[in-house]
Amino acid sequence: MKSIFFRSLQLIFALSVLTTAAFGIEFNRYHDQEEIAVYLRQEAAARPELVKFEVLGKSHQGREIAMVTLTKASSPEAPALYFNGTHHGNERASTEAVLALIDHLIKNQNQVAIDKILRRYRILLQPLVNPDGHALNLRTDSKGIDPNRDYASPNKADKDAFQIVETRIVRDLLQREKVIASAAFHSGLEAVLWPWCHSPQQSQHDPVFRALAAAASKPMQVNRTTQSFYDYQTEGEYIDFAYMRHGVYALTFEVSHEAAPAANKLQATVRRTVQGSLSFIRAVDDLMNNPQTPSPVLSETQASL
Ligand SMILES: [Zn+2]
Repeated sequence: MKSIFFRSLQLIFALSVLTTAAFGIEFNRYHDQEEIAVYLRQEAAARPELVKFEVLGKSHQGREIAMVTLTKASSPEAPALYFNGTHHGNERASTEAVLALIDHLIKNQNQVAIDKILRRYRILLQPLVNPDGHALNLRTDSKGIDPNRDYASPNKADKDAFQIVETRIVRDLLQREKVIASAAFHSGLEAVLWPWCHSPQQSQHDPVFRALAAAASKPMQVNRTTQSFYDYQTEGEYIDFAYMRHGVYALTFEVSHEAAPAANKLQATVRRTVQGSLSFIRAVDDLMNNPQTPSPVLSETQASL
């Protein structure tokens, strides 16, 4: 006969498996990178038909840089929507918001609207662009370089950009995937921002960016939406690069006034961000189905005008 101790252990194990399967991940606290790695792998292992886990590379200090792709599309050519977090390592709400979006899409995969999106698109989700900064609680990477100033832009040639492996990984991902729209999550401000960051001039797609920002900001309960330059001028941001080089409708979602709000405020923060992201995805989908929409694929020369 099995001991009570052994049976209790079995019960605890079974309950923990059930709990993990039923609830995925909770946002009443922040997660370390080991927990994030386990969570992403578990979701992919439990639902291989929906979730694909991939290691994109390693950070300068050797930490894993991972991504999951969620899709029900049969074609690997299906257009991609790309969400990333933690360009700035101390902006921990941005990390958790990407995890929350993964969790929400998985749990609600059979809801009609989400099922439709998953059938049409590949949704790429990368919680940690800058894992060294996250581990060290730094805005920058371990050498003091700001990843979100390290991309090429209309005024910054590739040879002067991509000094760090973390941005080269994002650059190569955009080269590989047919990304049509993207949101880079940040925290420390509440705003939705769009290109250009480097110039006061409006981009050719300013009305589209404005419409997408409006769609995202309302459910995020964020009042500030503006071309990024008018927040403040920067050179070498991810969104300028993604738009300039690949015609991606790339926006910055600043999800919280604090870079890392108190744990008891985290749940509400990530919930708002998930709702904003879903509204953004729906708006992109509407755009794709509207033949009047200007093509998002444009040459670098056009984009830099
Ligand atoms: Zn940031």
